[in-house]
Amino acid sequence: MRISVIGTGYVGTVSAACFAELGHEVVCVDIDRAKINQINSGVPPIYEEGLSELLRKHAGKRLSATSDYDNAVKRTDISFICVGTPSDSSGNIDLSIVKAASASLGEALKKKKDYHVIVVKSTVVPETTEKVVLPIIERHSGKTTKDFGIAMNPEFLREGKAVHDFMHPDKIVVGSLDTKSGDIVASLYSGIECEITRTNPRTAEMIKYANNSFLATKISFSNEIGNICKELGINTYQVMSAVGRDFRIGPHFLNAGAGFGGSCFPKDVKALIGKAKEIGYEPLLLNSVIAVNEGQPLRMVKLLKNKLGNLKGKKVAVLVLAFKNDTDDIRESRSIPVIKELLDNGAKVSAYDPMANENMRKLFGGIEYYKSATDALRGADACLIMTEWDEFKSLDKEFEVMKQNIIIDGRHMLTPKKDIEYVGLCW
Ligand code: NAD
Repeated sequence: MRISVIGTGYVGTVSAACFAELGHEVVCVDIDRAKINQINSGVPPIYEEGLSELLRKHAGKRLSATSDYDNAVKRTDISFICVGTPSDSSGNIDLSIVKAASASLGEALKKKKDYHVIVVKSTVVPETTEKVVLPIIERHSGKTTKDFGIAMNPEFLREGKAVHDFMHPDKIVVGSLDTKSGDIVASLYSGIECEITRTNPRTAEMIKYANNSFLATKISFSNEIGNICKELGINTYQVMSAVGRDFRIGPHFLNAGAGFGGSCFPKDVKALIGKAKEIGYEPLLLNSVIAVNEGQPLRMVKLLKNKLGNLKGKKVAVLVLAFKNDTDDIRESRSIPVIKELLDNGAKVSAYDPMANENMRKLFGGIEYYKSATDALRGADACLIMTEWDEFKSLDKEFEVMKQNIIIDGRHMLTPKKDIEYVGLCW
């Protein structure tokens, strides 16, 4: 099949490369020329394990990139919308990019005679595909759903493991208004061993939100239990490891710590809250999931103040900056509220991340960035551990260069050593 992928961020680039690997011919479309040039020269615009190998293999052969919607739609049978769906200033979903991409697709469709399927892969709140995307495409193309198909195919990949997850999914969901377009979308995945759940578009949209909201709920629940355990001198990791052996609960996402970040959980839970409110329902549980999550990073700074007192002029090393390991993505990283709170309290921040220094520099230009953990730790009064990169689990001698050996661990990463003042966030 010939596929166009609109938006070459994390989801678009990974989907495009993986579809090419599955044997499809893929054209990527983006408004960012730099990304287009990178993809055409086989260089991924983002870091993902295994992605550069796939791009090197397929770029210039089964995979190309362009900014020309008309040409991409003409040359393909199906288009995936993979553009961003950020939060607006109130936390609700901002659909302006999806609307712009839909309008461009509609204009391109107007010039095409053959049947074409448009698939929303971006995470959008229930009813968006039917009530927002479809009318825009109809208006701009002058066509109806007799002439084109419309479907929703949410993406569940994890950043850092995105290529693996795309090729080995635990579920594929295809929501369509009619069987023909759903069959076409489902056929693209025939090379992947996985059951396909067929639904209508709004159910597919809701599956994505229910999935992410449940995972976020597990994390906030574990953090709340951890906060209570900390006060009572109970090891929350022992508690949740036993709890996770209950087959109805499962062992994953039960690790208490600094909370969830990233481009999905915070914004998706907030978007579902916004949608629920729009229809007159107050989502008490989801509100609390966000409230607990926002409190966790600030608890780290509170623990630090308990140890250091006034933070004014104190040097605090923050390791590391990405929202999780194996990515350079800092969106909603728990390091952001921590750095902000430290700066508001007059602390001097030294930071290190194996991949994300440059991304964080765009947000906080005035802090010191280093090329190694040791350099960031040199002369520091304290260190805050924010992300669970494997390379930090074995940190030991590196702490010897600190002025005071106070470590607040937000991820249950380190094994306490006797010459280090080790403070766990929830343990
Ligand atoms: P991203 O911000 O990394 O990438 C979006 C891309 O779209 C950018 O390259 C941007 O230049 C491009 N773009 C913007 N306007 C455009 C337009 N009018 N036409 C063409 N391209 C345009 O986004 P992402 O992280 O890949 O997320 C995309 C969607 O997938 C979001 O809805 C997100 O919630 C969802 N999602 C993300 C993940 C993840 O792990 N990142 C996982 C599952 C689902």
